[in-house]
Amino acid sequence: MQPDLSVVIPLYNEEESLPELVAWIEKVCEEHKYSREIILIDDGSTDNSWEVAIKLSEQFGSVKGIRFQRNYGKSPALYAGFKAAAGKVVITMDADLQDSPDEIPELYSMIMVDGFDLVSGWKKVRYDNAVTKNLPSKLYNGVNRWITGIKLHDMNCGLKAYKRKVIKSIEVYGEMHRFIPVLAKQAGFKKIGEKVVQHRARKYGVSKFGWERFINGFLDLLSIQFMSRFGKKPMHLFGMWGSFTFLTGFGFTSWLVIDKLMLGDRVSLTNKPAFYIALTAMVIGTLFFLTGFIAELVVRNAGDRNVYLTEEKIGWDS
Ligand code: UDP
Ligand code: MG
Repeated sequence: MQPDLSVVIPLYNEEESLPELVAWIEKVCEEHKYSREIILIDDGSTDNSWEVAIKLSEQFGSVKGIRFQRNYGKSPALYAGFKAAAGKVVITMDADLQDSPDEIPELYSMIMVDGFDLVSGWKKVRYDNAVTKNLPSKLYNGVNRWITGIKLHDMNCGLKAYKRKVIKSIEVYGEMHRFIPVLAKQAGFKKIGEKVVQHRARKYGVSKFGWERFINGFLDLLSIQFMSRFGKKPMHLFGMWGSFTFLTGFGFTSWLVIDKLMLGDRVSLTNKPAFYIALTAMVIGTLFFLTGFIAELVVRNAGDRNVYLTEEKIGWDS
């Protein structure tokens, strides 16, 4: 039977937080009578998180677990959770108790009643380091809004709710968890909303992401924009620039040759800078073209990128 709700929680070394988190989610769901499953994805923890997950699954019938063989990252963990999730509404949440389970009912009704495809949390008041995280994050989200056109204040918030269809139609790979709303929009889901959520200071453990998140995030933003425009037709980009550069070079070379042979210019071709520039343009144009063909070959032959080895599972039959 399909549960009302799947709560998907990626975790990496969060043994202290898990019991409190799961008990709290259970309490909220019990109060609101949601049938549910809580999917814990252990992303290769080196502490006792998996043992804790097993205990929790014995204690609560709703708890399921997936354990990665090694640390793959938050995006693969979410992807594995999305693949396994059966609920009508899927809510993702960090494992470190920075997101409050008390937000679940409101998020749930924004999906089920108000009909949103995706609702992203907005940590309007944040309890993280102001200099290393809050300020850069504001700047970063501004750039994001400008480039993607999605008006969210806190795109990378771990607390989000989705209609089932949304998470089944997107593929979160690499570190693309920062851009799930962009992926959803690209997959054709238009009703993307935002809800101000409570944020709490990290109670146990340490943050798993450092300052590189902003650089990696920006590079991923460029990739995701590129992929959405040319991912399935790279030749349209490389071919266009290749033709343009090659033809410019070819035009100039032809003109120089005609000038020399027909119009009797006495200066040797090899003494003209324009000749070298024109040749270089032809070479670069050809390279663009070849890159385009190779990219097309790659696209045609690419298989499933998301093969993550899982070690064990709890809560599913077989
Ligand atoms: N996480 C994960 N795999 C990783 C890194 C992080 O599953 O490789 C989980 C982590 O356990 C937490 C969530 O992703 O549940 C968010 O991580 P964290 O709290 O460190 O990020 P921050 O709050 O600093 O943005
Ligand atoms: Mg955190």
